[in-house]
Amino acid sequence: MPFKSGFVAIVGRPNAGKSTLVNTLVGQKVAIVSPKPQTTRNRIQGILNRDDAQIVLVDTPGIHRPENVLSRMMMDELQHALEGIDILSLIVDATADFGGGDRFSIQWVERFHGPVYLLLNKVDRIHKQLLLPLIERYNKVFEFAEIFPISALTGAGCLDLVNSWLTRLPEAPPHFPADQFTDQPERFLAAELVREKAILITREEVPHAIAVLVDNFEETEKITRIRATIYVEREGQKGILIGKGGATIKKIGTQARLELETILGAKIFLELMVKVQPHWRQNSAIVRQLDWHRQLEQLADYQE
Ligand code: GDP
Ligand code: MG
Repeated sequence: MPFKSGFVAIVGRPNAGKSTLVNTLVGQKVAIVSPKPQTTRNRIQGILNRDDAQIVLVDTPGIHRPENVLSRMMMDELQHALEGIDILSLIVDATADFGGGDRFSIQWVERFHGPVYLLLNKVDRIHKQLLLPLIERYNKVFEFAEIFPISALTGAGCLDLVNSWLTRLPEAPPHFPADQFTDQPERFLAAELVREKAILITREEVPHAIAVLVDNFEETEKITRIRATIYVEREGQKGILIGKGGATIKKIGTQARLELETILGAKIFLELMVKVQPHWRQNSAIVRQLDWHRQLEQLADYQE
């Protein structure tokens, strides 16, 4: 069989299960998953490697109407994610009713010129009888290339989905070395993990207000030293993150470190700080600084 290789973008509304699907398909944690919407701020790629194929998955920020500088940038990022894509897959939460947000998503995928898949996710949580009417509902508004009921969480239907993608992907050599599961720099992964733990542990209404920047990432033979700053908008949020006697920030650090050690296979020393930076989401200079593409460009400029 000829080797197949290509790019599949996973798009959908916040909380539809994009990151969960990428993680399930890749089998390694590459995109952060959280019960709160819009925790994936940047484009993250996971790479699915098989003997007969390589599929590069592009996880994207959730489709939503832009409201501030940050969400406008997220929507720009979504637009960029479509460049060079072979298949677009719109993932929707099948347990939720079809609504305005879904119509907006469909309008948005209409601009793509290749095959568009519809993935009805979370079928582990709905009755089978409800699927058919939902499929009919979607078929009325857009002509999808394929429709797949799946559970990103349990993996149900995912193998069929991958095999179907493969029939539409070009014959091509792999784009990345087979041992790679993501093209994300390790320091970005570290920042994402800290952000995930901070959101999960504080369970406060602050996901958008939290940003994590890695200030220092130093690899030695014995240990990787990482220093990161968590930015928040208000003093109150800082207090919540630090917790009584520093208990919360300590917990965030420990959980992030343990997971990073597993993923990177290295011993890690993680140092965290919390800083208040009012209104950073409305400030494009700060938002730009938080964008890893630009961080890397700056790093490259600096090294030249
Ligand atoms: P994203 O915002 O689209 O990236 O969504 P996430 O992947 O972060 O998932 C949002 C929430 O939905 C998380 O709590 C996931 O555990 C949950 N979730 C995702 N896929 C499934 C699924 O197939 N079944 C169930 N029951 N929950 C799911
Ligand atoms: Mg996500």
